[in-house]
Amino acid sequence: MSPVPYHGPNTEGGESEPLPSMHNDGDATILVVDDTQDRRDIMSILLSQAGFRVFTAEDGREGFEVARARHPLLVISDVMMPNVDGIELCRCLRADKELYATPILLVSAMRVDDKSAVEGLQAGADDYLEAPYDPMRLIAKVTRLMERARFEGALKESEERYALAARGANDGLWDWKLKSNQTYFSSRWKSMLGYGEDDIGNRPEDWFSRVHPDDVEALEAEIADHIKGESSHFEMEHRMLHKDGSYRWMLSRGMVVRDADGKASRMAGSQSDITERKQAEAQLLHDAFHDVLTGLPNRALFMDRLSQAVERVKRHPDCSFGVIFLDLDRFKVINDSLGHMVGDRLLVEISHRLEGCVRAGDTLARLGGDEFTIILDGVEDEADATAMADRIQDQLHRPFNLNNHEVQISASIGIALSTLNYEKPEDILRDANIAMHRAKSAGKARYQVFDATMHFHALELLRLETDLRRTAEREEYCVHYQPLVSLETGQLTGFEALVRWQHPERGFIYPEEFIPVAEETGLIITLDRWVLREACRQVRAWQQQFPEQQSLTVSVNFSARQFSQPDLVEHVQQVLSETGLDAGCLKLEITESVFMSSTESVTRMLAQLKAVGIEIYLDDFGTGYSSLSYLHRFPINVLKIDRSFVSRIGPEGENAEIARAIVTMAHSLGMKVVAEGIETESQFTELKSLSCEYGQGNLISLPIEALKAEKLLNDLSGQQWQSRQGKKKRATPYDLSMNSIKSIFNQAG
Ligand code: C2E
Ligand code: MG
Ligand code: MG
Repeated sequence: MSPVPYHGPNTEGGESEPLPSMHNDGDATILVVDDTQDRRDIMSILLSQAGFRVFTAEDGREGFEVARARHPLLVISDVMMPNVDGIELCRCLRADKELYATPILLVSAMRVDDKSAVEGLQAGADDYLEAPYDPMRLIAKVTRLMERARFEGALKESEERYALAARGANDGLWDWKLKSNQTYFSSRWKSMLGYGEDDIGNRPEDWFSRVHPDDVEALEAEIADHIKGESSHFEMEHRMLHKDGSYRWMLSRGMVVRDADGKASRMAGSQSDITERKQAEAQLLHDAFHDVLTGLPNRALFMDRLSQAVERVKRHPDCSFGVIFLDLDRFKVINDSLGHMVGDRLLVEISHRLEGCVRAGDTLARLGGDEFTIILDGVEDEADATAMADRIQDQLHRPFNLNNHEVQISASIGIALSTLNYEKPEDILRDANIAMHRAKSAGKARYQVFDATMHFHALELLRLETDLRRTAEREEYCVHYQPLVSLETGQLTGFEALVRWQHPERGFIYPEEFIPVAEETGLIITLDRWVLREACRQVRAWQQQFPEQQSLTVSVNFSARQFSQPDLVEHVQQVLSETGLDAGCLKLEITESVFMSSTESVTRMLAQLKAVGIEIYLDDFGTGYSSLSYLHRFPINVLKIDRSFVSRIGPEGENAEIARAIVTMAHSLGMKVVAEGIETESQFTELKSLSCEYGQGNLISLPIEALKAEKLLNDLSGQQWQSRQGKKKRATPYDLSMNSIKSIFNQAG
């Protein structure tokens, strides 16, 4: 080291100005103790130049005091000093409970003989330096001692911290002497793997042989990297074989200890059991992508796989695939009648059967509810996909046995093929869904393959829905009225209110077309309520206009969705009181689907309506999920035979068995019957002979608009007036013969 500029030495216990250097961290403090001022100054200058902060003291006693006040990282002391000499200072420092570890470098102006060297070392000095000394040598020794002090301090601190942490965290410890290749495993380390103190040896193999075969290579590489100095510490999660034969997840951490040459001599660390955390993580990950009930992939995972499939086809057009969209038919019926537990069991059983149908590369998922989807890998044409759909239908066709209930189910299946060159996964799924809806409306329990015309149809529906929403504000609805007559007397008894939609561009739209959309979107609630109010108002007006029609009735169709409205009964009562219609004149037509929803509240609502005096008509009887138990359980006053059974009745009254059965059954249960869709005289006569009470249909009159209905009522009252005058020969004013029914009603209609 060449002579360095003097920046003003610091003597008499002061501080020297540090120069910028690697040691300039403010902590590198050195205490220089010497009774000769020159030597103190020179030493201070040299050390300051090298970047250390220096304190000085004139003898051993002062040196000890400064050391206690300043806690230097290193003490450099002259040996021969008056009062307390260097050897004595060593002893004092080593005896002090805070300073005992401070490294001490003794400097001797005289040749150090063996005796005083031994004495010094015995007193606790770490090294000797003879004066006159080469400044380079001084700095080298100082640097080495300081570094060791730092390292030992850090090690001690980290060991203490570590021991504390390990005790707290219940970790196992290991210590691997790399030179002798011996390993110490703490008893906790061993017990974590199910072993006792003497069951595990002290060689690295005792560790590595228990690491999961898939993890061992990575573990060894991590350790090797750290030994080579490529990582600040070693840390890895890996599996370890437990004595019970299971694998447990461990977090191993460690650090090497290097010798003076920087060579790794030892490596020590910890092992913690993280199996539970790993399982929780795995569960979370699994849950995020799987359906809890069936364990199948959920929508998120399905969409991810679907987008991969779509991308693959873009790159390799011959990697075609198909998408199946499956929706169970009448699942809600099972859920509502047998309970959700059975519904859930059924879904699980179905998922098992579907799993049995798919092949290795396929993805079967539960999108939610009773909807399942499948990506059919490598499907080349429609026939491949429909063969799969057939297989699924076969599998689902076999009855399910759930809690001793034999349950039969079917599914509607939509199929879309990647050959239509889809851009986005949502598009192919949408089309499979459209095809599924097609299969449903074509009568369920079947499949449909998507084609472009279906897309058009779906767009139409969407337009209808948008228009329907708009209509709610614009009042484009009107009510038509279809007369109901007593089959026995031919008297007009009332009207069924049937809604019509006057679309500004498309003209009249019939309910068959828009009611399903209104049901699906919930718009039906306000629609039905509007029809109710309008029909009650109108019929009450007629009752007032035609005094002999005081008991004229009106039947209003109510969607099953009305019964999800808690204020239903209240609302109906309010409409009655606002319009002034007598409750006995209002009939509510419901279908069997009402009973599919929560039966308890439906029963309560129906009972309340009955208590008010409103009669309940069960519409379209025989077409739904007919069950006699409904007829017992719910307060139904009248059954309406669906027109499909009426239309079977031939010119000679043949094929009337179902109608007869329904009438007989209804009567035995104390209910009356309306036959709907009477189109021929023979149907009329046959139903009359079966003692069916009421009828409606095109033979009598089509549904007519209010003005025409009014004209009809007017004509009827004229007849009555005429009959009172004795101008026409009639048994009773309302006993209309077949011909007059036709003539009067058809005039009006
Ligand atoms: P529905 O309640 O069974 O009504 C009888 C349907 O049969 C009416 O069809 C009527 O025009 C038709 N019809 C009557 N006589 C004959 C006949 O002799 N032959 C044939 N082939 N058909 C006949 P519309 O008006 O198209 O109504 C269809 C269905 O729409 C109704 O069936 C009812 O379920 C529903 N609907 C109508 N208006 C409303 C409403 O305001 N609210 C609700 N929720 N549904 C309604
Ligand atoms: Mg009806
Ligand atoms: Mg009907």
